[in-house]
Amino acid sequence: MQFNDLGLDQRLISKLNHLAFYKPTEIQQAAIPVGILGKDVLASSKTGSGKTLAFLLPAMQRMYRCKPFTRRDPRVLVLTPTRELAKQVFAQLKTLNAGTPYDGALIVGGENFNDQVKALRKDPMFVIATPGRLADHLEHRSTHLDGLEMLILDEADRMLDLGFEAQLRRIHEAANHRRRQTLMFSATLDHADVVSIASDMLNAPKRISVGHSAEAHTDIAQRFMLCDHLDHKQALLDKLLETEDYDQMIIFTATRADTDRLTTLLNERKLKAVALSGEMNQTQRNNIMSQFERDCHKILVTTDVASRGLDISKVSHVINFDMPKHAEEYVHRIGRTGRAGNKGDAISLVGPKDWKSFKNVEAFLQQSIEFTTLEGLEGKFKGLKPAPKKKFVKKKPGPKVQAPKSDKPAADKPKKKMDKRFYDNMAVGDNVFVPKKRKPETPSADEE
Ligand code: ADP
Ligand code: MG
Repeated sequence: MQFNDLGLDQRLISKLNHLAFYKPTEIQQAAIPVGILGKDVLASSKTGSGKTLAFLLPAMQRMYRCKPFTRRDPRVLVLTPTRELAKQVFAQLKTLNAGTPYDGALIVGGENFNDQVKALRKDPMFVIATPGRLADHLEHRSTHLDGLEMLILDEADRMLDLGFEAQLRRIHEAANHRRRQTLMFSATLDHADVVSIASDMLNAPKRISVGHSAEAHTDIAQRFMLCDHLDHKQALLDKLLETEDYDQMIIFTATRADTDRLTTLLNERKLKAVALSGEMNQTQRNNIMSQFERDCHKILVTTDVASRGLDISKVSHVINFDMPKHAEEYVHRIGRTGRAGNKGDAISLVGPKDWKSFKNVEAFLQQSIEFTTLEGLEGKFKGLKPAPKKKFVKKKPGPKVQAPKSDKPAADKPKKKMDKRFYDNMAVGDNVFVPKKRKPETPSADEE
């Protein structure tokens, strides 16, 4: 199938040819025809499968083919969970709208608010934004969404995990009219919060699911190594850095403190490593990302702030120095490599502290994982045994004591908590996915 077969405008086809995109990816084949018909879409597909063009092309087509509802308001709004991802979508948009009057503005947290007010005053047709900052502009009345034609949510599940539900609903309310088209992309469509927000924001959407997001990613070679303790992890990492033939590498750690510590250590060894964390100010974040993209640094050490969406073609290796807390995040982290048909390597270090997360990942991927070792660095840790089930011992009947009568009605008594182990197993267990309501993470000073 060619882009020609999807009903796209010839002007877009020639742009795509110019960009050396000749064949639509699977998600593009499925989503573009529905998108250009003006229907709502709820879609999920693997990392690196070309979702950005799957929503930007129908949006551009609308610019070419349809009259605006109003003259002033943005026509297309794209929301993403992180500023870095918003920038990347914006960059992709620029490759499509260059030389057209369909200009765009990038509205993310951490940048000067007044500059953004000025940019919005120029009535851009596209706005690419993080939800927190866009909601602030609505509050401030620097933009209005009454004329919005297309609302696009990229990585919707992540936006919800970061605690942006209120902002998303606020934005939806500001653009809540019958003729609005909504496209929602999410790594998973089963996430309880996604189901709920999708049913409120989408109108009879076409559901598209191209492969499971946890599906074995054949372009990414995944390896897992057991480690005894932090020093052992460090030794394994050193060896990997010595022996692996990498182009650029992203190392994920659990916390910002680990990120800093590891970066300092790598720099002491004269390796070109740089740290990125959500707590940095925006100028720093921008500089780091643009330097990394320009290959000034070989290694980016980061937390999950960089796990979603980023597309840097030279990343050949992803290392999980610590396992991610949520199993889906594993799929996103390793998805920073093996993009657009390239090959990639993902190596995860699993110590006693990572064991529970590792088991969650194993269950999520629905495969039994074998460990590999590095010569001379084999450890002792072989995994933790599942906690033994407590035996129920029947108590001998003692002398009967009359229980004091509670004056509280039974309904007010605190509910007995469900055994946590049981709950965890249930959520990731055998093919049965029980939508799990998650506590929102703090938006890591991100995208306010
Ligand atoms: P996703 O959002 O699904 O993770 P992206 O939209 O970031 O994926 O795209 C991943 C990479 O694939 C990008 O570098 C993009 O330029 C490239 N790409 C997208 N569509 C195509 C296509 N039809 N042919 C070749 N490369 C493509
Ligand atoms: Mg993406």
